[in-house]
Amino acid sequence: MNALLSTRSLRKSYGDLDAVRGVDLDVEAGEIVGLLGANGAGKTTFMRCALGILAPSGGTSLLFGRPPSRLGRARIGYVPQGRGLYPDLTPRENAQFSAAAYGIRTGATASASERALSVDSYPRRLVRELPLGLQRRLAFDIALAHGPLLLVLDEPTSGVGPLESAELWEVIGRQAAAGIGVLVTTHTMNEAIQCDRLAVMVDGSIAAEGTEADIIAGATVVTVEAADWQAAFDRLVQAGLLVSLAGRGVRVLGAAPEQLLTALDGLPAAIGTAPVTLDERMALLAQ
Ligand code: ATP
Repeated sequence: MNALLSTRSLRKSYGDLDAVRGVDLDVEAGEIVGLLGANGAGKTTFMRCALGILAPSGGTSLLFGRPPSRLGRARIGYVPQGRGLYPDLTPRENAQFSAAAYGIRTGATASASERALSVDSYPRRLVRELPLGLQRRLAFDIALAHGPLLLVLDEPTSGVGPLESAELWEVIGRQAAAGIGVLVTTHTMNEAIQCDRLAVMVDGSIAAEGTEADIIAGATVVTVEAADWQAAFDRLVQAGLLVSLAGRGVRVLGAAPEQLLTALDGLPAAIGTAPVTLDERMALLAQ
């Protein structure tokens, strides 16, 4: 199957900073590809270069099999991190503006938008006066109004509540089930696991790719069960280890059990191993 979006060795530098360092990524019809990574990993820059909104420094991107162009971009729904709305227009004016840009008849947009509550929920309010969750939903509904084949969403649920976030993911899932390809960035693990495939970006490169299981791939964490769990935690932190708490269980990343025994310095504790979570794997990849 031909990918809707396909990048090879895509690179972008800002002066001396290599923000994207040779990324290969494909998005096929009907799949949700999640791009994960810490702040500054290069996700937004990668997306913008892949879509031709920003000129790459090297490599190639094909959007629907061709170099990105206005015509290609007319078949995508892109929601940037800043939502891409005009804050001083009403929701409907935003929808009409977007419809005009995509060459859609206003009537057609109105009927599509009428199914989308966000466009008409506050007819007299300006976008900047709306709650963030509603602004995100509006940006999303506008991106879908022209029937795109590919959705590109940059942290679509950042700053919105769990219910609104779940609703947005329900729409994302429905779009993918209808054959739309989705590329979405997120920091949230419970969103990541709703993706069909994940790509973890670290310092401008893809550090791991595949399903959640592929990415975790047998990596383990050392677990510490101690009656005096606070003392265990303190000693491990003081030893400079990467320590987290799960309830009263202490988990240590990237260290051998022997190192923990030394750090615990005779404190009674049961030491074992467990599979890492996706969050922990991300922390290990970023080390
Ligand atoms: P976030 O999750 O915070 O949006 P990100 O993974 O999307 O982060 P980018 O925004 O792509 O990362 O930034 C990648 C790197 O490039 C960062 O170090 C950032 O400071 C830098 N950067 C981004 N845009 C510019 C720019 N216009 N000029 C110079 N440096 C930039």
